[in-house]
Amino acid sequence: MEQTSLTNEHERQFPRVLVIDDEPANVLLAKRILTKAGYDSIGSTTDPREAAKLFAETGPDIVLLDLQMPHLSGFDVMEQLRSLTEPGEFLPIIVLTADITPQTKLRALSGGATDFLTKPFDHAEVLQRVQNLWRTRQLHLELVAYRRDLEQLVGERTADLRDALRKLEETQKHVIEQERLHAFGTMASGVTHDFNNALSVILGFSEIALQELDDPDTHPVAPHLRTIMTAALDGAAMVNRLRDFYRPGGREEPRAVIDLNALVEQAAGITKPKWSSQARAKSIEIELRTKLNKVPPISGDAAELREALTNLIFNAVDAMPDGGEITLRTVEELADVRLEISDTGTGMPEEVRRRCLEPFFTTKGELGTGLGLAMVYGTIERHGGKMEIESEPGRGTTFLIRLPKHLATSQVKAQSEAHAVQPLSILVVDDQPVLCEIVAAYLMKDSHVVEVAQSGEEALAKFEPGAFDLVITDHVMAGMSGLELAARIKEQSPLTPVFLLTGYADTQSDTAPTAEHEGIDQVLGKPISQIDLRKAITRISSDEGEVARAPVA
Ligand code: ADP
Ligand code: MG
Repeated sequence: MEQTSLTNEHERQFPRVLVIDDEPANVLLAKRILTKAGYDSIGSTTDPREAAKLFAETGPDIVLLDLQMPHLSGFDVMEQLRSLTEPGEFLPIIVLTADITPQTKLRALSGGATDFLTKPFDHAEVLQRVQNLWRTRQLHLELVAYRRDLEQLVGERTADLRDALRKLEETQKHVIEQERLHAFGTMASGVTHDFNNALSVILGFSEIALQELDDPDTHPVAPHLRTIMTAALDGAAMVNRLRDFYRPGGREEPRAVIDLNALVEQAAGITKPKWSSQARAKSIEIELRTKLNKVPPISGDAAELREALTNLIFNAVDAMPDGGEITLRTVEELADVRLEISDTGTGMPEEVRRRCLEPFFTTKGELGTGLGLAMVYGTIERHGGKMEIESEPGRGTTFLIRLPKHLATSQVKAQSEAHAVQPLSILVVDDQPVLCEIVAAYLMKDSHVVEVAQSGEEALAKFEPGAFDLVITDHVMAGMSGLELAARIKEQSPLTPVFLLTGYADTQSDTAPTAEHEGIDQVLGKPISQIDLRKAITRISSDEGEVARAPVA
């Protein structure tokens, strides 16, 4: 019996009945009794050999069965019917007998009979017994339907739970990955901070020591001091690079409206020598295909994003030593623009896929730096985007990037947030390029726009009233000193603040200008830490009225 028809089986008013008796008169009588009572589905046969077939065709609820019949006895028929019913199904069989011995009765009961009717039939009794058994079967059918619904419900719930569990596991995996990278970021910025402070002390005091030598050009210690400064600066550059991957995004980021498709085309162009010519030189063929759908603009830093794309394309080329195909695809999603970079290369084993974003993780030995994907990750994060990696060893890799669409309102927000930071345009003057660089690095980290000059003369050439919000100059310089420079600047633009960086011990803790520092707004001791520099700048920025602000590019 098919499942759906079962649903309301038990709600039918009358059961389907099958009468099996070799005596036509009996069959007729039974049918008449039932028909008169309203029964509308009554099958019958006088040939027991037909019973099984008829049973299968009509699916009766109740069978009225004679015991003594030619060809097949009622016992045989019962056995056949039992093989046609589901195990556990309740099929009432009423045995019709003229007179029955206790043994036969027992045998009939153990063969599957449910009840007995004695011939000749008593009308009321026939109806009563049939009806009682129908009621029982109805309850049975109801139970079956209920159980089936329950099983279905449990099945559905189990599927839901399994689904939820799978999603939970996925989310958990994702969260753990994000947490790991976040931890790397925190570690990187902590290390950078501490290292920068240590390095700035090394740099600052090396410079002071150098200046205190009577003859810095010929003194035998001078080259050593310069080597120390260079090494410290290299160290600073290195940690700053690390920090850049995880530089927090947001307010200080310059945001432009970017057409991602154009960017993809550019990246494809920039990388062409690598995937086209170089590949051909190794006599392998790498094809780069773009599938660029119309997408809305995103906002961000084009140079950074281009570099991220370039990195991903380079990785794809590296992953295809025997050639293959790179596909760059863009497509609009609900709130994002989705960018896919796929290759048909070697793919990554799970362990590599899990770790590939870590800085310094590489499988390329000497040829790799392990910084490419860390940088890509940092860039995408800073753009408020998400990156997923799908990779299968032997089949290839897809980097799936989602970047939020540019919203007109996000610009308004960026502007109001930028107001709190107040990026300034700053001229940094120092004849030691290393120190210029470190001060500039500090300033740029706070999103100031920095111009450097390596002498007072160069500074004056660059200076124009209104072009800079602030000048930071070294004290002792070859040629024009910092004090001279300050005076010349104040002549041109009295409102432009000038900071003097000096390594002289007596001024180190004294940040207030003294009489001999005319034209200097603040004196800053060397080595300057980023925090002190920031504090000094905050001091002048809060006196907004005194600062003639230049427009920041
Ligand atoms: P590098 O390229 O210097 O090794 P990356 O950070 O760019 O550093 O990549 C880290 C590692 O991730 C690679 O060494 C490589 O094992 C794996 N990887 C990155 N991109 C792919 C790619 N498209 N296919 C297969 N493996 C890749
Ligand atoms: Mg790489």
